[in-house]
Amino acid sequence: MAHTIFTKIVQGEIPCYKIAENDDFLAFLDINPLAEGHTLVIPKLEIDYIFDIEDALYKDLFLFAKKIAPAIKAVIPCKRIGVAVIGLEVPHAHIHLVPINGIYDIDFKKPKIALTDHQFENIAKDIREHIEI
Ligand code: 5GP
Repeated sequence: MAHTIFTKIVQGEIPCYKIAENDDFLAFLDINPLAEGHTLVIPKLEIDYIFDIEDALYKDLFLFAKKIAPAIKAVIPCKRIGVAVIGLEVPHAHIHLVPINGIYDIDFKKPKIALTDHQFENIAKDIREHIEI
């Protein structure tokens, strides 16, 4: 079975700007972000639809995201960390964590921002330094 691009990231076949991981979950920067600090939180287990995840793992996925969000907020000035689950592009469950100041900031139709490799690296490093897991 062909693996999803996110499984390839989990397995280290494709690089990512890592924010945090444990045995079950991985958080990394979205490569095509709506805002600086836009982060994806995924289960390492390859499951397409988030509501197909069994209860314990589903709950732990959101608890893992809950640890990541304050670290993003500490680094990226914003009113809130918006939470979205779309899943139409990559068939591997993931939670979007997006720094927002208003509703438009989490409109997935709006143009994405372009960041350099250096900027991604710095944002990821700053967020990592604020994570308490
Ligand atoms: P969705 O499936 O929720 O509609 O969107 C998938 C998200 O994954 C998009 O925001 C897209 O930018 C992101 N994405 C797709 N491929 C990659 C990748 O290879 N690396 C990273 N870091 N993000 C990706």
